[in-house]
Amino acid sequence: MPNPLFDALFGRHVGKDTPFLLLPTGQIISHGGFLKVAARYANVFEELGLAPGDRVAVQVEKSPDALALYAACVQGGLVFLPLNTAYMPSEVDYFIGNSGARLLICDPEKSGGLQAFADKAGAQLQTMGPTGKGSLRDRAEQQTDAVATVDRSGDDLAAFLYTSGTTGRSKGAMLSQNNLLSNAQVLTDHWGFTSKDVLLHALPIFHTHGLFVACNVMLLAGGPMIWMPKLDVDQLVRFMPKATALMGVPTYYTRLLDNPDFTRDLAKDMRLFISGSAPLLAETHRSFEDRIGHRILERYGMTETNMNTSNPLDGARRAGTVGMPLPGVELKICDPDNGEELSQGEIGVIEVRGPNVFQGYWQMPDKTAAELREDGFFITGDLGLIDDQGYVQIVGRGKDLIISGGYNIYPKEVETVLDDQPGVLESAVIGVAHGDLGEAPVGVVVPVSGATLDLDAISGTLKAQLARFKCPRKLVVVDALPRNTMGKVQKNILRETYGKVFA
Ligand code: ATP
Ligand code: MG
Repeated sequence: MPNPLFDALFGRHVGKDTPFLLLPTGQIISHGGFLKVAARYANVFEELGLAPGDRVAVQVEKSPDALALYAACVQGGLVFLPLNTAYMPSEVDYFIGNSGARLLICDPEKSGGLQAFADKAGAQLQTMGPTGKGSLRDRAEQQTDAVATVDRSGDDLAAFLYTSGTTGRSKGAMLSQNNLLSNAQVLTDHWGFTSKDVLLHALPIFHTHGLFVACNVMLLAGGPMIWMPKLDVDQLVRFMPKATALMGVPTYYTRLLDNPDFTRDLAKDMRLFISGSAPLLAETHRSFEDRIGHRILERYGMTETNMNTSNPLDGARRAGTVGMPLPGVELKICDPDNGEELSQGEIGVIEVRGPNVFQGYWQMPDKTAAELREDGFFITGDLGLIDDQGYVQIVGRGKDLIISGGYNIYPKEVETVLDDQPGVLESAVIGVAHGDLGEAPVGVVVPVSGATLDLDAISGTLKAQLARFKCPRKLVVVDALPRNTMGKVQKNILRETYGKVFA
């Protein structure tokens, strides 16, 4: 009987001794060996009384066993709900309460702090440490390494993935088997992944990028992943000669460029460098090409939709763009006020439709109705345009748009000019309450290490290059921008910090 996601990603590898996870210690876990571990966990879930459709919340460090929990959930028809390891117990409280999870798996060190929240939510609690050890593995060792796969249809839910919470409270996106599978198939094909590929995997697996984009693609392609517990640039460099592809957030690429050992020769067997989850600076794109001879392939996606657009594998990969809609994905740019489609070149809200688009936000019918249209288009909240060559350019998030004296300011436009100024490494432009203008732009600037910025000269250049209303009314210098684990700049934190500069 069928379980489309399990059959396509995992089932076909049962019993195979092909390499799947290559650990930095030299240990190799085969596809077949991995699936035996997963089957043991699926048996434990059954023993714990979980039934198909139940949610399993997982807040554990990345390890082969942690990934096996995902496979076990898919095999057992359970809804996998991974949580950012940085969340504090009081935050996890929200996720388990909101999701109605029946089981919470956490690090043994956190179980003391989480037990009361699990009890309150009526969830059982089991533990798994950074190497996989814990109460769950103790139980798994008592189980057999085979299990019957639970029947599912493509419309059944496979995962609840909470959004990163960059713009507000995280929302639980309900993803069906088909949402995940259709996107994985398209990406594998679009990026040319085969069993000959070896992926450097240093991303966390609680987010769509490291979990679904990276793992699902490699499971379909059949090649192994070099499985690193977290980003460690020295380790990336050390293992790069054994790999053919890397998926990373922009920070990976800037950090690689800061490492003198990262050379063209080191990357000579690499086929593809992919970036996403946050905007890649055009400058990074260019420096990378100069140094390594590869153009980073930038793509755009989100928790609710998996991937929507991508620069091409063959064809021009253009800096500052996220490429074109993936096969099967429709994308349009709409007027934020009335939803009407705008013409080519105009800036508006990006809307997408396709088999990748999620089933709605869990227990948030109002939010679902506000963002998911009846005709299937999802209102992403990102602002962008389609350029004259059909490439999508993202200009920022709707929530970051600054309206100053009645004029719209797209932060990205100002940031691009700021980033080009002498001594500037990067910048973030935010809107801050202003008595006269409602909101006024403030530029938060990071100097390159050791540089002293001439803010007057920078202001002068900005005034010469940008309409007056777009010029930051104030520039502040900081050592680094606040970022979350996926490399996203947390503009909400900047808005809080500098919210009173005009008060
Ligand atoms: P929340 O929805 O809770 O505020 P979030 O939107 O940051 O959090 P994710 O789903 O992890 O949560 O991130 C998706 C967002 O990441 C997109 O909407 C977009 O703003 C941004 N993003 C992803 N890829 C790119 C990219 N290549 N360039 C620019 N932005 C990107
Ligand atoms: Mg979002």
